Amino acid sequence: MFTAKCAMQNIRNVAIVGSGQMGSGIAQVTASSGFNVMLADVNKKALDRAMKAISQSVTHLSKKQKGTDKEKSDFVTLTMSRIKTCNNVSTAVADADLIIEAAIENIDLKRGIFAQIEQSCKKDSILTTNTSSFLLEDVAKGLQDKTRFGGLHFFNPVPVMKLLEVIRSDDTSDETYATLIKFGTAVGKTTVACKDSPGFIVNRLLIPYFFEAARMYERGDASMTDIDEAMKLGAGHPMGPFELADYIGLDTVKFVMDGWAAKYPEVQLFEASPLVDKLVAEGKLGRKTGDGFYSYKK
Ligand code: NAD
Repeated sequence: MFTAKCAMQNIRNVAIVGSGQMGSGIAQVTASSGFNVMLADVNKKALDRAMKAISQSVTHLSKKQKGTDKEKSDFVTLTMSRIKTCNNVSTAVADADLIIEAAIENIDLKRGIFAQIEQSCKKDSILTTNTSSFLLEDVAKGLQDKTRFGGLHFFNPVPVMKLLEVIRSDDTSDETYATLIKFGTAVGKTTVACKDSPGFIVNRLLIPYFFEAARMYERGDASMTDIDEAMKLGAGHPMGPFELADYIGLDTVKFVMDGWAAKYPEVQLFEASPLVDKLVAEGKLGRKTGDGFYSYKK
């Protein structure tokens, strides 16, 4: 953790576009692994929030590391010194070897960002998206060179979650893909490979699993708390499906499932849940609003 891992020759400067929950986490692990980070967002307040959150998280993590107080404080100082911020995406990506897009999950917005990035970045920069639910080929539709485009799907919270799904489309070159795998390892993640497909590995299994749990509850087969308890004690999951959906956000799981249902009407697993629709319509989105399947108001 304390040693910089810049062994890769072709990636030194990383631009991250979008400084929300994911972008700030990705910036943190990238900087603490020795890369120079340019964190970009159109919202200046989001950038300020991100830098504050990163500083707190790095300080917290440094306390868990072995070593002297000086080593711990040097780690925080060095990590923070590697992160610069910018509220102009074109300027932010100009010098980047690798660009990771982590803006909101909106296909038109992502396409617009990539059009802007391709106009402003170096000819050999690698472009990636952290999308959770879109196909790479849909995000990359307007790109002129799709060989340098791939997917880096991090998990939330990024500094804690060890997995990185590295996605390739039919157009992604072998060199781009190998570089992305190397980058993932360099930032301390365990990488898994997946083709361009809805939800990649984790979400393709997790989202239908959650909706199946909702249908089980809707049919009256079992109570919510018993379904959660059963999956924790019987399957060894740290959270039951309803607890997990409340954690992720019911609007997010509904958004993903609605998108897949519209794009793949023939896949039976991609079916909406009237209960989820109702909770979202009522603004009960899970932990973030204080109510979802469970209440968190206390
Ligand atoms: P978020 O809402 O926390 O942050 C998104 C950020 O993008 C905001 O700060 C916003 O100001 C910024 N933004 C909007 N338009 C922009 C633009 N044109 N240029 C630059 N920045 C812009 O969202 P998040 O949860 O960090 O998710 C980001 C991406 O990561 C999404 O594609 C999401 O699907 C994916 N993802 C999310 C999770 C998760 O658990 N939250 C997990 C894996 C992947």
